[in-house]
Amino acid sequence: MTDMIVIAETKEGAVSLVTSELVSAAIVLGGNPTVIVPGVNDTAATSGAKISGVSKVIACVGEQFSNYDAAAWASAIDACAPAGVIICAATQNGKDLASRLAARRAVSVVQDVVAIDEGVLTSPIYSGKAMQNVSLHGDAVVSIRANTFSPSSDGGNAEISVMNQSADLKTAVREMIAKASERLDVAEADIIISGGRGMQDPANFAHLERVADTLGAAVGASRAAVDAWEEISHSMQVGQTGKTVNPSLYIAVGISGAIQHLAGMRTSKYIVAINKDAEAPIFQHADYGIVATWQDALPILESELKALLG
Ligand SMILES: Cc1cc2nc3c(=O)[nH]c(=O)nc-3n(C[C@H](O)[C@H](O)[C@H](O)COP(=O)(O)OP(=O)(O)OC[C@H]3O[C@@H](n4cnc5c(N)ncnc54)[C@H](O)[C@@H]3O)c2cc1C
Repeated sequence: MTDMIVIAETKEGAVSLVTSELVSAAIVLGGNPTVIVPGVNDTAATSGAKISGVSKVIACVGEQFSNYDAAAWASAIDACAPAGVIICAATQNGKDLASRLAARRAVSVVQDVVAIDEGVLTSPIYSGKAMQNVSLHGDAVVSIRANTFSPSSDGGNAEISVMNQSADLKTAVREMIAKASERLDVAEADIIISGGRGMQDPANFAHLERVADTLGAAVGASRAAVDAWEEISHSMQVGQTGKTVNPSLYIAVGISGAIQHLAGMRTSKYIVAINKDAEAPIFQHADYGIVATWQDALPILESELKALLG
C-alpha cells in the first residue's frame, strides 16, 4: 500500500490546525501518515506528534525554513520525505510547494481537493465552474483545502526523528511588515463575514468587525474593496486572485457575486448574502438572501446575534 506523508504547516512554534485536518484526509485516503514538520528547529514537531492517527513524525530541520523559498523548501522536504502520496494544505505556500515536490518526483499533482470519496478526489477547475474527479494510482502530491476534513483530535504520541537538511535559498524575504489586522485568517476561519464595494467606505468595515466579534468570525473582502481602500488588506481578499476559503458560514455584504469572487468561496457550506439589489448574482448562490442595505440589515443582525449568543 502507498504510504501517506503529510507536510505540516506551522505557526508560532507549533503545527497549525490544518495539519490535523490533513492527517484526517490521509487516513481517509489510505492510512496513518508520516508527518514532516519543516522548521529551523524541531520545536513544532512535538505538537505534530500529539495528533492522533500519526504514525511517525520527521522534523525536517534547516536554516532555509526561516524564510519561505519554494525551491529551497521543496529540495529539503523532498530529501526528508519517504516515497508515497504527499499531502499539503491548499494554502498559497502549500500549493506552491505541492507543485515543486510533484515536479521533483515526476509525479502528478492534484490541487485544492475539496472531497475524497472511496479514493476519488474532487477538486474545482475553471475557477470553480466545474468539478473534476481524480483517482490516484501510485505516488502523487495532493493539496487539500482547509476546513474540508474535521481535524484529527489530540491524544497521539508518535515517535519523532530529526533530519538536518540544508538547502540553498534562492530568494529571501528581507523584511516582514506586520499585518494590519491580527484577526483570524480567512483561509482558516470557520465563519467569515466579507464586505465589498457596497460597504462604501473602509471605516464601515467596523460594522462587519462587530458582527465578526459576536460570531468568532474572520473578516474578508472582495477585490473591489481591497483595490479601492488601502485600509483593507490584501490578506483579506477572497477569490480567484485572493484566498480560497471553505467555511461553514460565509456572509457576503455589499458584494455582487462576480465569478472571480465566487471562485474563492462557493464551496462554503452556507452562504448568506446581504445586498440592496435583488438582481445581484450573489443571490443565485446564496442559501439565505437579505435584500436590504447593510445600513438596515447589519445592526439588526448584530443585535439578534448578541441576544442569541449572549
Ligand atoms: C483576473 C481577475 C481576477 C479577479 N479576482 C478577484 C478576486 O480574487 N476576488 C474578488 O472579489 N474579485 C476579483 N475580481 C474582480 C471581480 O470581477 C469583481 O470586480 C469584484 O468581485 C467586485 O467586487 P464587489 O462585489 O465588492 O463590487 P461590485 O461588483 O461593485 O458590487 C457591489 C455590490 O454592493 C451592492 N451594494 C451597494 N450599496 C449597498 C448597500 N448600501 N447595502 C448593500 N449592498 C449594497 C451593490 O448592489 C452591488 O451588488 C477579479 C477580476 C479579474 C478580471
